[in-house]
Amino acid sequence: MYPKLIIDLKKLNSNLDAVAKITKEDGNCSLMIVTKGLCADPQMVKLVAEHKSVDFMADSRVKNIATYADLARKNGKKTVLLRLPMHSEIEEVVKYVDLSFNSEISTIRLLNEEAARQKKLHKVLLMIDLGDLREGLFYKEEALIFNTIEEILKMSNVEFYGIGVNLTCYGAIIPKNDNLSILAGLAEKIEKTYSTHLHMVSGGNSSSIYLIGKGELPKGINNLRLGEAFLLGNDTAYGAKLPGTTGDTLTLEAQIVELQKKPSLPIGEVGVDAFGQKPYYEDRGIIKRAIIGIGKQDTDLDSMTPIDEKIDILGGSSDHTILDVTKSDTEYKVGDIVSFELGYGGMLKTATSPYVEKEYRK
Ligand SMILES: *Cc1c(COP(=O)(O)O)cnc(C)c1O
Repeated sequence: MYPKLIIDLKKLNSNLDAVAKITKEDGNCSLMIVTKGLCADPQMVKLVAEHKSVDFMADSRVKNIATYADLARKNGKKTVLLRLPMHSEIEEVVKYVDLSFNSEISTIRLLNEEAARQKKLHKVLLMIDLGDLREGLFYKEEALIFNTIEEILKMSNVEFYGIGVNLTCYGAIIPKNDNLSILAGLAEKIEKTYSTHLHMVSGGNSSSIYLIGKGELPKGINNLRLGEAFLLGNDTAYGAKLPGTTGDTLTLEAQIVELQKKPSLPIGEVGVDAFGQKPYYEDRGIIKRAIIGIGKQDTDLDSMTPIDEKIDILGGSSDHTILDVTKSDTEYKVGDIVSFELGYGGMLKTATSPYVEKEYRK
C-alpha cells in the first residue's frame, strides 16, 4: 500500500553512533535523544532504548512517552517531557515521565502534589529563555528565577534537576559560546547560592552540536537534546551534515494515479486555492503532469525532494500532489512509484499521518 515511509534502521543506528561520539566523547555531555520527529516510531524507539550511549529519551508529547516509558526505564534510560506540562495532564506526566521541563511555578506545584499522591520523586528542569522567546523564564529576571528555585527546593516530591535553554525554534537564534555562557554562568551562581549540584545544564537541541566540533561549547554545559541531528544527520544551526551521519535515513514513496499532458497555467479567472491562498503559476507550456496519491494532509510539500532530480513538485491540495515529469529520463506511467527524501517537516507529517504506511530496512 502507498504512500509508504521507508525507515532505514541501520542508517539510523549509525547516525546515533555518530552523534553519540560527538556529544559524549568529544563534548563530555550526556545524550538525550528526542523521538518526536518520527512520532516515537516503535522500531526507532527500540533502537534508541537499546543503544548503550543514550542516557535520556525525550518527547514533547506525553502520549508518545507513554508508549515507551517501560522499555526506556527497563534499559536504564530516563524519560523526559520537553514541552511544558499542561495542567490537564499532570497525572500522566508524573506516571510516565521521570524529568519534565518547566517554567511555571503553578505547574510545578501541581506536579509536587501529584507526585506525593503517586508516592514518587519527580524531577524538574527549569527552562531559561536566552532570547529565542519561546519557553523559559527570561534570563534577565534573576529575582524571579531564584524565587522559583527556592520554592522548588522546599518541595518534598519534586527534585530540582537543573536548568536548560531552547534556541533556534521560534526566534531562530543560533547558539553561540556567548549566549550559552550566560546559562553556564547562571548554573554556577545557582550552585554557589544553594550549595547544591545541578545534575543537568542542558545547552539546547540539534543547533548546538556544531559548537563541540569548533571547541566552543562552554564548559558548564553538560547535556544536549538531539532529534534532527540523529534522525537526519543535520546540524540545524547552519544546515551542514554532521560528520559520520547520513540524511537518507527515510524515503517516502507515492504512487502515480494520473499522468496527462496538460497546460501549466490554469484556465479561467484565478481565485484562491484549497487552502485560501492566492497561487502563482509559472508558464512552462504543455507539460507531462503526474498526480501522486499523497497530499498536504500527509506531508509537507516544501520539505520533500524527488530522488529523480528531473522531477519538479508543482503543488498540491489535501490529498493530491502534482509533479512535472516532462524532463525526466524515466517514462513514468500510471501505477509507477515516485520516491522522495524528506526534511524535518516532511518527516514529522508523514510519520504522524495514519494514511502513510511504514516499512523498515534492517
Ligand atoms: C523538539 C525539541 C528538541 C529537539 O530538537 P531537534 O532540533 O530535533 O534536535 C529539543 N528540545 C526541545 C525543548 C524541543 O522541543
